[in-house]
Amino acid sequence: NRAIQSDAVPKEIPDFSDHEGVWVYAEQRDGVLAKVTLELLGIAQELGQERRQKVSAVLIGDRLENLTHDLIRHGADQVFLAEDPCLQPYRTLAHVKIMEDLINEHKPEILLIGATHIGRDLAPRLSRRVGVGLTADCTALSIDPEEKILLQTRPAFGGNVMATIANRYSRPQMATVRPGVMEARTDEAKAGTIIHCEVQLDEADIKTKVLEMFEEKRKHAPITDSKVIVAGGRGVNGEAGFQMLRTLADLLDGEVAGTRVVAEQGFVPADCQVGQTGKTVRPEIYIACGISGAIQHRAGMMNSRFIIAINKDPDAPIFKVADWGIIGDLHDVVPELVRQLTPA
Ligand code: FAD
Repeated sequence: NRAIQSDAVPKEIPDFSDHEGVWVYAEQRDGVLAKVTLELLGIAQELGQERRQKVSAVLIGDRLENLTHDLIRHGADQVFLAEDPCLQPYRTLAHVKIMEDLINEHKPEILLIGATHIGRDLAPRLSRRVGVGLTADCTALSIDPEEKILLQTRPAFGGNVMATIANRYSRPQMATVRPGVMEARTDEAKAGTIIHCEVQLDEADIKTKVLEMFEEKRKHAPITDSKVIVAGGRGVNGEAGFQMLRTLADLLDGEVAGTRVVAEQGFVPADCQVGQTGKTVRPEIYIACGISGAIQHRAGMMNSRFIIAINKDPDAPIFKVADWGIIGDLHDVVPELVRQLTPA
C-alpha cells in the first residue's frame, strides 16, 4: 500500500467536532432486512466502540417498526425510522432525500451502506447530494489509531493491490461494503431507542413510480447463504468434472461455485462466480478444486471459516489461504472423497 496525496485537496483539515456517530443504512425488501445490514451493524459496533460513539441504523420504508428490534439486537443503539407508503418499495430519489435530510440534521461521522443493487444505486447519488467522498466496495474497515479517522480498504488497479483510503476532508466518511465481508453479531439483551422521523416528500422528491416487480427465477440457492461451497476452477476441466463436484456438494448439502474462468466458460452460472467481480462468500467450509488462488478470487472467499484446497501444483497461491491442502489430481481426490462420504 502506498498513500497517494492529491495536490487538489485542501491543506487545512476542517473542524468536524460537530459530527458524531456511526450510521448504517438498513436495507430491507418487502419488510425483510438484507443480511448485509446486520453485517454492517457488526462492524459499526466495532468502529463505534473505538470512537466511543453510538451506532445508529436508518430504516426507511413503510410499516417496519417490527424490524427495529432486530436492528437493535444486532448492534444499533438507536434506529431512525422513516415510514410512509411512498417509501415502499425502494425508490432512489425518495430514499436519497430522507437520508440527505437526516445527515444534514444529525451530522454522523461515518455512514455505511451495503454494496448491493440498492446500495450501489443509493450511495453515489447521496454522496453527491451531501458533497462528500465515497469509497465503494470496501472489504475492510478500521479506525486509524493516531488520526482516529476511518481507514477504508478496497481492491484497486484491477484487483492487483488493496488500497487503503482515508478521507480527511469531508464528513460523513462514507463507504459501501460488500455483502459477506463482515460478520453479524447478536446480543439478545441489548436495549435501544427508536426515533420516529417526520417524512415530508412531494412529487418532485420522488419522480418515479414502480409499476410492476418481477422475481428472478433461481435454479439454485444463493451461494452467499450456503454453509458448504465446492468451488471449481480451470483445473476441473469441463462438464464431467463439474458433475463430480456437484455430487460432492450434494453429499455435503452444499452448492457449487467457481472462478471467473469457469463462469465465463459457462460451467457455473454468473451468480455463482466467487471473487472480486463476483460474490463474496464466507461459508463454514470452502473446498477449492483446481483453483490457482489468484488475488481476485481470494478476495471473495478468504473469510470462509475452513478452506480446503485441492491442487496438483504445490506452489499454487491458494495453499497460502488454505487450512488444509491436498496436493494431487482432483480427478483422483474428489471421487475418493465422494466414495468415502457416500453412505453404505
Ligand atoms: P487458473 O489460474 O488457470 O488455475 C487453475 C489451477 O488448477 C492451477 O493452479 C492448476 O495447478 C490447477 N490444476 C490443473 N489441473 C488440475 C488437476 N487435474 N487437479 C488439481 N489441480 C489442477 N477470478 C475469479 O475467480 N473471480 C473474480 O471475481 C475475478 N475477478 C477479476 C477481476 C479482474 C479485474 C481481473 C483482472 C481478473 C479477475 N479474475 C477473477 C481472474 C483471476 O485473475 C484469475 O485469472 C482466475 O481466478 C483464475 O481462475 P482459475 O484458478 O480457475 O484458473
